[in-house]
Amino acid sequence: MNKPQSKMTEPQTSKRIENEKPAAEIARVRQKWNIEDSKSLYNIEGWGADYFSVNKDGNLCVLPDSQGGPEIEILDVIQEISKNQQVELPCIIRFQDLLRKRVERINEAFKNSIREADYKGLYRGVYPIKVNQMREVIEEILDAGQAYHFGLEAGSKAELQIVLAYNKDPEALTICNGFKDQEYIRLALLGRKLGRKIVLVVEKLSEIEQILKIADEMEIEPLLGIRAKLATPGAGKWQESGGSNSKFGLSAADILNAVEKLRKRDRLSSLKLLHFHIGSQIPDIRTMKSAVQEGARLYSSLRKLGAPLDYFDVGGGLGVDYDGSQSKSDFSINYTTEEYVSNIVHQLQQVCDEEQVEHPHIVSESGRSIVAYHACLIMKVIDTIEPTFGTPGKALSVFEENETVKQSEYVQEALGIMKGLTPKTALESYHDSLTKLEDAQDRFKLGALSLRERALVEQIHGKICLWICNNMKRMKRIPDEFYELKEKIVHQYVVNFSVFQSAPDHWAFDQLFPICPIHRMNEKPKNNGILVDITCDSDGEIDRFISRDDDYSRSLKLHSVREGRPYYLGVFLTGAYQDIMGDMHNLFGRVNEVHVFKDDEDHEDYYIEEVIRGDTISGTLRATQYSLSELNRMLKQDVDRKVKEGVLKPKQGVQLVDFYSKVMNGYTYLRN
Ligand SMILES: *Cc1c(COP(=O)(O)O)cnc(C)c1O
Repeated sequence: MNKPQSKMTEPQTSKRIENEKPAAEIARVRQKWNIEDSKSLYNIEGWGADYFSVNKDGNLCVLPDSQGGPEIEILDVIQEISKNQQVELPCIIRFQDLLRKRVERINEAFKNSIREADYKGLYRGVYPIKVNQMREVIEEILDAGQAYHFGLEAGSKAELQIVLAYNKDPEALTICNGFKDQEYIRLALLGRKLGRKIVLVVEKLSEIEQILKIADEMEIEPLLGIRAKLATPGAGKWQESGGSNSKFGLSAADILNAVEKLRKRDRLSSLKLLHFHIGSQIPDIRTMKSAVQEGARLYSSLRKLGAPLDYFDVGGGLGVDYDGSQSKSDFSINYTTEEYVSNIVHQLQQVCDEEQVEHPHIVSESGRSIVAYHACLIMKVIDTIEPTFGTPGKALSVFEENETVKQSEYVQEALGIMKGLTPKTALESYHDSLTKLEDAQDRFKLGALSLRERALVEQIHGKICLWICNNMKRMKRIPDEFYELKEKIVHQYVVNFSVFQSAPDHWAFDQLFPICPIHRMNEKPKNNGILVDITCDSDGEIDRFISRDDDYSRSLKLHSVREGRPYYLGVFLTGAYQDIMGDMHNLFGRVNEVHVFKDDEDHEDYYIEEVIRGDTISGTLRATQYSLSELNRMLKQDVDRKVKEGVLKPKQGVQLVDFYSKVMNGYTYLRN
């Protein structure tokens, strides 16, 4: 076990070398890290899609008009809102301009592709509001989509109420998906009375009878769609289970049945749209291509059966490159918006021409790709917890190094293992050290080892682990155990946010979001960090990050937090699904929100149009059925009793009660 004294342990070695370097050399090494290195480390150009960059001060910026246009520095926004509007973090920032950009991008892509291909139909897209139903999001999308007659999609009665009020353009489509009851159908037909293009998409056969009955009662001609179950399997994390297992849609036999039903009722003329949706975030373009191919054959067959279909609705699925790898991995996509669009147009055109049927108007229901980019969550690191095994400088803080000679024989043995470390014998030493560690912990339990000795052995083991991690490059073959060890040695960054509220898909689907600091990009980040949130839930952490080389990385390179200086992190591309699905775990609730617009006059500037306050403690208490006055009364009762007993002075009692109710009116998240 005890190796003859040979190599020094790593931390001292590196310190010594550092001390020997002339100051100029150190400065040069430090300087070597620049903004480009950070951009590449966090793959900002990969996921940022021209909308994000880093300025010369090392701060992350949003570029609503890509390069050459205005640059909105996120740090500046944070300083502005905390100073002038007293908005605390965590906070969602919505860059409304990015919503407009995305709406324009998909509409222009279809317009161009249709023109180039000489395709005979039009594009009439809709935004499925379930992806983000925030009023400001919908208003912005409709405004940007006006010129294109961009419409909306609803999947429930509540959503339809929003859509009915907002989508007034008689040219734009309203698509009604999801299971329907009588009220749902009546609402949709109410819209038909107002002259809107509202399509009721039949999800199951029995809905046809229901719709026709109510339409007759209301004396209005319905516009009907059919949702088809495709045989083409979806792909990726959010695929709809294809074939017979899908909850939604009609099988081939059902479709024929539906046509017959409608023909018998003399209502085949109402059948205007064919719809399918093979899932969200489709990573591989070929999946979409083959779905469109199958859908196009269905369309052609229905046309030939006499159904006067006008619209071909390809559903959602246009993905977002969350990890920036442009690959067909789960959180990436191997195609651009333009490629997606041209694949649909060409595939559909080809089949229609072969089958000699008219080109239908094309509908798509892209949600994720329109709203993901516009929102990010900014949060503050409130503490860092160093690796369990200690860090080089502090590893031996329990005792002075020159004190080592005085240690007990038991501790001397542990020190012996540390001193014997070489790249060649590392594995053996590591195992010896593990055995020693377990033995020390056992002895402590039995009362045979002092707390101080146990602490020393643990810290020595920590030093050994660190030495191994820092010297892996010097080893001829790196054992698997060392890779695992390296993953475990991370700084935990305690961040003032709740995963369950702000990134629920990270928790539910292991979804990766790009995460990086919003400043200090001109400094090399030295720590391997993971993020832990402030909920009392061990799942409340983020320990999977986007990676350039692998599917994901177990830690994120982060800077050391400087005493008294805030360190801010951003989670990006959170505009789709996250806001709405967030939950009330630990009653943290919704976060503050600000809406930012670029200033077209001044490229350095922007303005904040709106601040939406997140939940207050009183709000979340009410939502869980508590009465605030009752809570106040209950606490006051107890305080009064203590005053009566003479334990508290009356003045102290009043202060305690006041403080209790004051906190109630504040933000649920940590405020320091
Ligand atoms: C959820 C959903 C969409 C949106 O899909 P994205 O992949 O987010 O664009 C579109 N259509 C239907 C029917 C949906 O259920």
